[in-house]
Amino acid sequence: NITVTRAVVPPAIKAWLSTARPMLIDGKWVKAQSGKTFDVFDPATGEPIASVAEGDKADIDLAVKAARRAFASGPWSRMTPSERGRIIHRIGDLILENADELASLEALDNGKPKAVAKAADVTLAADMFHYMSGWATKIEGKTIPISALAAPGAEFVSMTRMEPIGVVGQIIPWNFPLLMAAWKLGPALTTGCTVVLKVAEETPLSALRLGELILEAGVPAGVVNIVPGFGETAGAALAEHPDVDKVAFTGSTEVGRLIVQAASRDLKKVSLELGGKSPNIILGDANLELAIAGATAAIFFNHGQCCNAGSRLFVQRNIFDKVVEGVAAQADKIKLGHGLSDDTEMGPLVSKVQYDRVTGYLASGRREGARALCGGEGLGGAGYFVPPTVLVDTKPNMKVVREEIFGPVLVATPFDEVDDALIAEANNTIYGLAAGVWSGNTGRAHQIANRLRTGTVWINCYHVFDAALPFGGYKQSGWGREMGQAVLSNYLETKAITTRLG
Ligand code: NAD
Repeated sequence: NITVTRAVVPPAIKAWLSTARPMLIDGKWVKAQSGKTFDVFDPATGEPIASVAEGDKADIDLAVKAARRAFASGPWSRMTPSERGRIIHRIGDLILENADELASLEALDNGKPKAVAKAADVTLAADMFHYMSGWATKIEGKTIPISALAAPGAEFVSMTRMEPIGVVGQIIPWNFPLLMAAWKLGPALTTGCTVVLKVAEETPLSALRLGELILEAGVPAGVVNIVPGFGETAGAALAEHPDVDKVAFTGSTEVGRLIVQAASRDLKKVSLELGGKSPNIILGDANLELAIAGATAAIFFNHGQCCNAGSRLFVQRNIFDKVVEGVAAQADKIKLGHGLSDDTEMGPLVSKVQYDRVTGYLASGRREGARALCGGEGLGGAGYFVPPTVLVDTKPNMKVVREEIFGPVLVATPFDEVDDALIAEANNTIYGLAAGVWSGNTGRAHQIANRLRTGTVWINCYHVFDAALPFGGYKQSGWGREMGQAVLSNYLETKAITTRLG
């Protein structure tokens, strides 16, 4: 068991959190129309750490109106691309200048270790703005030779122009609060859109701080509006708002379906980043030291609260025991604690809801006959700690094998041959977000990669993300891609302009 003491919150953050945090609408920090606030909790202790303005339909409406005004009057969409790029780059710089504070906020609010937040969340969030800033000057159309068969003899020149889609509603989850905000805001800003961002009710703090940095960087009023609030109220109001041109959502597949329904009335464009149950396949010829460490990180990074977590491990039978015992031994050594303690390697789950959900899956695994090599039960107490768990003796139809747990729970299964049955089992899921393949024979690994129905495959590595690489899901893991050049199409319309010559 572990004892978690209350964290020593850095004084600057304490001061920032001492009054209820307002929301950002039209360049101003304002209270909710209803005057309501909600509490935000430290998941390591279960104690409230802040109170935040609770946005709902009325606030979303004001935010959408502000975003529409800003889009229509053009201070952002018609700004020169180089100036827009420079401002976006400055957001990345400001994130790095405030890295320590942002990482502390993330540790306090989400529970993840501060060192991890700094090295991963904050660094990648800054890089997303830096990378996206370069695209502002490179959003190009084409000239297209046309035949115009119905107008014989006439001559034309045709071109395409890429235009911002307009007012974008963005809804993000709690697992990487700052980074998810960056993944969404970066490309929307680069393409000249204006935004209403609905942050997760569990973790609104770092995105609100990011809002301050966005204004400091020089983004005009109304271009970015940030509304904290609950899904069924603020989120639903944004997804169905008639004056939103496009909705970009990251979260569960279940809520993704509701977003599509809400957006369908006005046939809004929708992009979705949803859940996963990603296969991680270790072949008998893999470098075992690398593969064991890789499989451990694939599932336990961010406490398993990654949509792309390598949660289904397939290991060739001759090395199965060695690998699963190796992963369990490494998992047992992971030090649990408060995200703000220097020696913490894994924090609590984000909320009581997630704790109950994950421990519910552990109980279901036990009932159905799975055996835990390590972990296996929540720690109880005030914080939401679940130790890293490796389950073996699983069957393909068990709930723990079929459903996304979104916690530190790995299910491991042996296989005999790299054959159609293995590929079919790896693909035997409604999801298709990511996969891992570990082998000394990279040609063979590539052959497997080509047959996996997932948006990402990592070979002899896992969790390697880059702002330049598209990320997203096949099947029920989503629509569209985040990051890379690919994400730009989520936020652009193509206009074809044809001119008669002569
Ligand atoms: P969630 O779907 O419950 O919530 C995500 C966001 O949607 C939150 O901001 C929430 O307030 C909002 N929301 C909830 N109900 C809504 C509604 N009816 N209308 C509009 N908005 C609503 O998911 P979660 O529990 O916060 O996050 C965990 C899930 O997200 C996991 O399933 C995980 O796989 C997925 N996820 C996916 C990715 C990805 O990139 N594919 C990234 C992170 C998380």
